[in-house]
Amino acid sequence: MPQRGQHKVIIIGTGPAGLTAAIYTARANLEPIIFEGAQPGGQLMITTDIENYPGFEKGIAGPELMDIMRKQAQRFGAQSFFKTINKVDFSSKPLRVWADDNTEYTADTVIIATGASARYLGIESEKNYMGSGVSACATCDGFFFRNQRVVVVGGGDTAMEEANYLTHHASEVTLIHRREGFRASNIMLERAKKNPKIKFALNTVIDEVVGSNENGRKSVTGVNLKNVKTGEITFHPCEGVFIAIGHEPNTKFLKGILDMDEVGYLKTEKSSSKTKIEGVYACGDAQDSVYRQAITAAGTGCMAAIDAERYLESMGE
Ligand code: NDP
Repeated sequence: MPQRGQHKVIIIGTGPAGLTAAIYTARANLEPIIFEGAQPGGQLMITTDIENYPGFEKGIAGPELMDIMRKQAQRFGAQSFFKTINKVDFSSKPLRVWADDNTEYTADTVIIATGASARYLGIESEKNYMGSGVSACATCDGFFFRNQRVVVVGGGDTAMEEANYLTHHASEVTLIHRREGFRASNIMLERAKKNPKIKFALNTVIDEVVGSNENGRKSVTGVNLKNVKTGEITFHPCEGVFIAIGHEPNTKFLKGILDMDEVGYLKTEKSSSKTKIEGVYACGDAQDSVYRQAITAAGTGCMAAIDAERYLESMGE
């Protein structure tokens, strides 16, 4: 019989996956504790309207949806901690995790729902102007670019959504994409194409973010754009640079402990949330490199809760 932990279920992460796992395990009287992490509510907290989450005919704002999910989980007794887990030890039972204030928690099961974070281009000048003109969140920072010129990098739904949103603030939005084909869904792409404030620069990448640093105050003045076909570099004046090129899973703290692919997505058994360690389950964007939708995250969160519940039952819970 494995040694029992202080808690039956620990959930790491509070996007739709973590909160759905919390709703299910709380309703099963498993008294889950949830670690909210660096971005409580996850990526939907920085999204505008969610139009494709079933049940909301007219759409719903991301933060509102997460607030409802959290309250639903709390109604059944789930308890939230506003801490980040940055270390785990799953080598023996009970499973052990440590929060950023060094507190140790133990549990019989752990559900990993840490989601993913925005990716950046990785060029030096991008880092240099981060927070001073470079951003990965239009809903957070769009307001600062009122009547100014901005560029958005990417060819997926996020880039289209960010570009559309930014037209409410900026005087001009240029969407920069490295090829001619788009990953974005037709509906989002068409909406962007029809928006008179959005211009497209295709087969183009940012070679350098250009700016000034006057009296210690950094600001962006433009970007050097490179045409990937001709190699030609041209200067494009703008005040804001929004990077919307996808996400990477928040799983670095699990490296060497759980199996993951080369990008960092956690590997689970087919049609299950089970990792290679008994009692440890993975769900949401930390585990799903294919669908990455709020609704699929919620679905896999539900799977993780049921898998954890069945394991606890087998332990005689
Ligand atoms: P995607 O992976 O779909 O798209 C990323 C885009 O960034 C691609 O066009 C890619 O180019 C480009 N890119 C990647 N790396 C670089 C780089 N280093 N330099 C330049 N360009 C780069 O990510 P998204 O975040 O757009 O979308 C993720 C998921 O979320 C999707 O499933 C999407 O449907 C969903 N989503 C849904 C929304 C909605 O329904 N309202 C809103 C936002 C997202 P390339 O195509 O050449 O690889």
